[in-house]
Amino acid sequence: MKSGSLSITPLFSGSSGNAILIRNDRQNILVDAGQNCKKIVEALAMVDLTPEALSAILITHDHSDHISGLDVFTRKYQIPIYATPLTWRGIHANERKPHSPELDHVITTGDAFTIEDIEVLPFDTPHDAQGSCGYRFSSAERSVAVATDIGFMTPIVFESLRGCEMILLEANYDKDMLWNGEYPYYLKKRIDGDHGHLCNDDCARTVVELYRTGTRHFILGHLSKENNLPQVAERTVLQAMEAESLQRDRDFILQVANRYTPTLPRWMETES
Ligand SMILES: [Zn+2]
Ligand SMILES: [Zn+2]
Repeated sequence: MKSGSLSITPLFSGSSGNAILIRNDRQNILVDAGQNCKKIVEALAMVDLTPEALSAILITHDHSDHISGLDVFTRKYQIPIYATPLTWRGIHANERKPHSPELDHVITTGDAFTIEDIEVLPFDTPHDAQGSCGYRFSSAERSVAVATDIGFMTPIVFESLRGCEMILLEANYDKDMLWNGEYPYYLKKRIDGDHGHLCNDDCARTVVELYRTGTRHFILGHLSKENNLPQVAERTVLQAMEAESLQRDRDFILQVANRYTPTLPRWMETES
């Protein structure tokens, strides 16, 4: 890793729970806390971190696969939390016991803020949770971003991702698997709707467009357990890139985030 540069290490990713680590050589920030406290601590240990090493937890929205561990984790380790006003409403509604209000930071989408040497830009995402957002991080002239739980690729999301070196992007479902699957009709409509999740095809199209803005490292995340498979998501994106004569490991890096264990970033020869 270049000194001072940012990288993304998903600890957990998928409809089963999300916690994404953003790190540079000075700090560690967690995006979401959607597994129980014990599992988050264990995953941090797998990447040689303790909870005390976190400088902040940023929440994307109040669905349980993003906040289920937050309540206990916060009371135990006292890490500052950042979320939009409407997400805060959901977080407080899910708390079994209150935590110290000093830890709470209210943020506004479109307004960048800093956590020590990292600038953070929260941006609006179209999703069926009020106040939902994604995050772009910048430090030492390098940017990375996390964008999951997106019903469709809006201009705001795309512009927020533009030019990032590394992006964790949602590849939630394969359309055929969803519509031929077991889910009830209303749930299929919800997932496939404008405030649901991003399908593999839309993810692949976006990856091609982001490559043109300079992104070279893609991590596919938040895969559905029932309506997707890592190899299906990966193949869909690879086919779209190959149609543009772009070759994996020569022109770009593609990874799929593990569901239950940390995914360490792979680097191309030229990046190290
Ligand atoms: Zn959600
Ligand atoms: Zn989610």
